[in-house]
Amino acid sequence: MAVHTATPANPPDQQPDPVHVTDRVGSGSDPFDAGRDPMGGRPRPPVGLYLHIPFCVSLCPYCDFVVVTGHAARGPGSRIEAFVGALHAELTLRADALDAIDGIGGPDRTALRSVYLGGGTPSLLTAAQVAGLLDHIADRFGIALDAEVTLEANPGPTERGDIAGFRAAGVTRLSIGAQSMDPAELRRLGRRHDPVDVRAAIAEARAAGIRSVSVDLLMDVPGQTLASWDATLHAVASLEPDHVSTYQLTLDDPDAEGLTTVEGDHLPVRAGARRWRRRAAAEQDQDRAAAMDARADRVLDAVGLARYELSNRARPGHASRHNLAYWRREPVEAVGPGAHAFDGVTRRWNAARLDRYLAALVPPDDGSPSLPPGGTEVIDDPTVRAETAILGLRLADGIDAAFGEDPRLGPGLAWGMAHELVARRADRLVLTPRGRLLSNEVFARLLP
Ligand code: SF4
Repeated sequence: MAVHTATPANPPDQQPDPVHVTDRVGSGSDPFDAGRDPMGGRPRPPVGLYLHIPFCVSLCPYCDFVVVTGHAARGPGSRIEAFVGALHAELTLRADALDAIDGIGGPDRTALRSVYLGGGTPSLLTAAQVAGLLDHIADRFGIALDAEVTLEANPGPTERGDIAGFRAAGVTRLSIGAQSMDPAELRRLGRRHDPVDVRAAIAEARAAGIRSVSVDLLMDVPGQTLASWDATLHAVASLEPDHVSTYQLTLDDPDAEGLTTVEGDHLPVRAGARRWRRRAAAEQDQDRAAAMDARADRVLDAVGLARYELSNRARPGHASRHNLAYWRREPVEAVGPGAHAFDGVTRRWNAARLDRYLAALVPPDDGSPSLPPGGTEVIDDPTVRAETAILGLRLADGIDAAFGEDPRLGPGLAWGMAHELVARRADRLVLTPRGRLLSNEVFARLLP
């Protein structure tokens, strides 16, 4: 889903770019440097922090995120306040744990470069709640002065929240879950807003002085045509966002993948959503999706939104710093139900169920909070290499050509080149336009 103080001293394009899109993955003498732990197998301090806010007013049938809806999200039965208390408790416990690690704990730790409030619909929080969380994070983790602080927002008038208040709290980037600018498509997707709300949300963000505004769009959705996609692209381009994400609608089945167990990081799919997904899948068309992706390049390139990652385009200086950390395999801390963290060695996740999350962190009868249930996975060296190559190929700049000589990765990359899905550009390997559409075919051949 979607991402949010005073007018910057310089217009965004003239501000120093904190993230150089052309920074390379695996450059230097050893192409695997970016995927290796430079601290010799020890955890590294996080460069970013993700907070998962699981509340939405209603559930979109295609949604795979950890979300709770209805009375829990607003009104007298709202659990948001209790949840924010639990988030504070988890932040304290995670910071304590980090402080206790020899070599990276304590006040000398580098301040976070990014904080990301995702969901769900984080804009359902009050500005005071967001300010409280950011103050706590600044106190325990540190937030760099030029940090990117993103808040996802739904555009509807009762969902986009207090954008000026978020800006005053420290939000610098707003990610707006527009998905489409076609009213009929929005209704079919179960969205609660109209195109006019997207325009209003962007106008409010600009008026509040939000530095960077991003818009999420979905392609290959039920009832969508090339013409309606074209109209959506032109409507969004005319609003002059700084960043646009174009995601192909994915209809994976987290139940079938075994992700919805009690310790899992997903919630079970409801019966109605399952029926909706079956109908939507029947309407999807790979060739039309390819044509839509090419249209997005044409329309968005023309207004200066250059593709820097498979699904993401930005004006100079507006690439998502937080997401770049994931694609570069940098350590990111995470809190909230279903949230995933990585410390450079181990991947950790919280279980998805809100009740269990609250029971651990705000136990009854004033018990002591404990870390929520979840799981961990240590990443072995072959997986590090594969992840480094796969994530690097997602970026427009690709990976060092020397990856092609790696005994494990070379055959898969050679297969991609033979099928014109991967191409060599000087000393880099990049996905071709066809390779971007069939990237999973390449990635599957790189996994150990
Ligand atoms: S608004 Fe986003 S997070 Fe909420 S239910 Fe819809 S898709 Fe899921």
